[in-house]
Amino acid sequence: MFTDQAAIKVRAGRGGDGAIAFHREKYVTAGGPDGGDGGRGGSVYVQADEHLSTLLAFRHQRKFAAEDGAAGGGRGCSGKGGKDLTVRVPLGTLIYDARSGRLIADISGAEPFLLAKGGRGGWGNRRFATSTRQAPRFARAGLPGQELECRLELKLLADAGLIGFPNVGKSSLLSVISAARPKIENYHFTTLQPNLGMVRADDENSFVCADIPGLIEGASEGAGLGHAFLRHIERCRLLIHVVDAAGTEGRDPCEDFDAINAELRAHLPELVEREQVVAANKTDVLEDPERLERLIRHVAPRPVYAISAATTAGVDALVKAVYRRLSVLPPIARFEPEPAPEPVPLSPEDTSVTREDGYWRVEGDWLYALMGNVNFSDYESKMYFDRCLRKHGVFDRMEAAGVRDGDEVFMYGITYEYAK
Ligand code: GDP
Ligand code: MG
Repeated sequence: MFTDQAAIKVRAGRGGDGAIAFHREKYVTAGGPDGGDGGRGGSVYVQADEHLSTLLAFRHQRKFAAEDGAAGGGRGCSGKGGKDLTVRVPLGTLIYDARSGRLIADISGAEPFLLAKGGRGGWGNRRFATSTRQAPRFARAGLPGQELECRLELKLLADAGLIGFPNVGKSSLLSVISAARPKIENYHFTTLQPNLGMVRADDENSFVCADIPGLIEGASEGAGLGHAFLRHIERCRLLIHVVDAAGTEGRDPCEDFDAINAELRAHLPELVEREQVVAANKTDVLEDPERLERLIRHVAPRPVYAISAATTAGVDALVKAVYRRLSVLPPIARFEPEPAPEPVPLSPEDTSVTREDGYWRVEGDWLYALMGNVNFSDYESKMYFDRCLRKHGVFDRMEAAGVRDGDEVFMYGITYEYAK
């Protein structure tokens, strides 16, 4: 089954912790601090892969995490950076932030896109050696990498899209104009995933054509298969509307033509305004030439090319005409990512102090960010944390809320006894 939407979670690597180490050498009693920095966490990139045409792979794998950075070591050794991770998606994949709905990126070029940035490595203690602090037992923890929940949506990139009822010969046409080998069967909806073909217009020029599963009436309301596929023609610069001119299934080509256009309009009104070239197919079995004349009159002023995908009659003229039109049409639409909201500057004033059953809970974004920088297994780091809280008035806020010496205080997983 064709999958053109997916939900994934990505997590960039955490930065490695900075090291606390001291220089040791024979005959040198007290060496200076030489703890190296932690390595940067790996980032998550997204890159288009032209061999993919669906988001099916994301049914099986939904979580993507880049490697964490390694902790710093002694002798000033920096920790190894975490390996980046590249998530491969089909060309034309849109990435949305699942929470806000914001469009983050339109992966329609070759460049890798940085989706989640790895966390910075923490500084080792040699960075904290100052003239007054010759032997700092103080290093910073690495920072967490960015984490994101995303919705992926595929909107194929193709110059021309084949549209029309099932069984009119769209896949057959693509197979004769390109090297693509879509499934062709005398059965409705044989095309369950879009096929892209590179169509040669002449020795130097070509365009990309997409074969999209057959549209059926009611598709825009989600009946049957059609609806999901309509989004794949949104980006097409031109539509090749294929009709069964011979009416081999007993349907009327003019009615088919109108029904498909009504579906396009219902899905997205501007779609019906998109340039259309009509391919009147199966003319090899056309018995009554008046049928074709009627179609030509009916779809005017849109141009009609009488073809047969079976015998390839007229196909070359159609390809050349499509190419001529494409050369004057604007390029394939790229969606503009929406700007990320400005990060709100964090302030210690947002710290909240609440009384819980038997202890105090102290929380706030500023506090949380600060705690990400502190290595709580280290005494001096804890003292630094303490000084920060004092300096930024957090202790004052706590006291104002009623916290007293000896009270138990809970801060994001850390419990301690308050002492002024
Ligand atoms: P799609 O559903 O629009 O992709 O249609 P297909 O390409 O799968 O073709 C449906 C059926 O129509 C198949 O049996 C084809 O062999 C047949 N067909 C396609 N084009 C022609 C044509 O030009 N002439 C004739 N006689 N049959 C055709
Ligand atoms: Mg088909």
